[in-house]
Amino acid sequence: MYNIVIFGAPGSGKGTQSEFLIKHYGLFHISTGDVLRDHIKRGTELGKIASGYINDGKLIPDDLMISILEKVLDENPEKEKQGVIFDGFPRTTEQAKALKEMLARRGSKVDIVIGLDVPEEELVDRLIKRGKESGRSDDNLETIKKRLAVYHSQTSPLRDHYVDEGIYAAINGLGSIEGIFENIKQAIDNCRK
Ligand code: AMP
Repeated sequence: MYNIVIFGAPGSGKGTQSEFLIKHYGLFHISTGDVLRDHIKRGTELGKIASGYINDGKLIPDDLMISILEKVLDENPEKEKQGVIFDGFPRTTEQAKALKEMLARRGSKVDIVIGLDVPEEELVDRLIKRGKESGRSDDNLETIKKRLAVYHSQTSPLRDHYVDEGIYAAINGLGSIEGIFENIKQAIDNCRK
């Protein structure tokens, strides 16, 4: 079993590469963004709270987000045993600390953090294109700019945190989707040896 964090700015390809990882390694995919969007679609109380933050390009408060993630793990013990791909979590140092503790209580850990590097201009282009195709409410220029600012101030410092832990693998997120996945696979397979 293997736990992977896929890390990078909005538009860096986390969701796309997660699909490949699920197929190849048979992992349980947890995208916190998808979990929140599902609540919004179903009109739950959590969905009502989350939509305000999402549409404003802000992060959901740590304590709430951490309890949402723990609930997903608690509800899926069998799937968790297959290994998990954490997509969009952690996004703050507080969340990274909580994830470490949560997994330690379960006798596991994050094995590798795959960091996708994509230049800012390309991120904006990709997100605007995705907004046109998917209609995601937060993929408009104003919100994209806010999300990138939040990424730089609150999320990107996590890179150093995981580099210090010795589990960070930097991957060039530009190029063909298949080519990027080959590099990810190599990083994972190297760290499994
Ligand atoms: P994503 O689909 O990962 O781009 O997430 C979309 C939005 O959901 C983010 O801009 C945040 O508002 C919220 N969100 C998703 N994951 C988290 C998280 N780990 N912590 C806080 N907010 C999150």
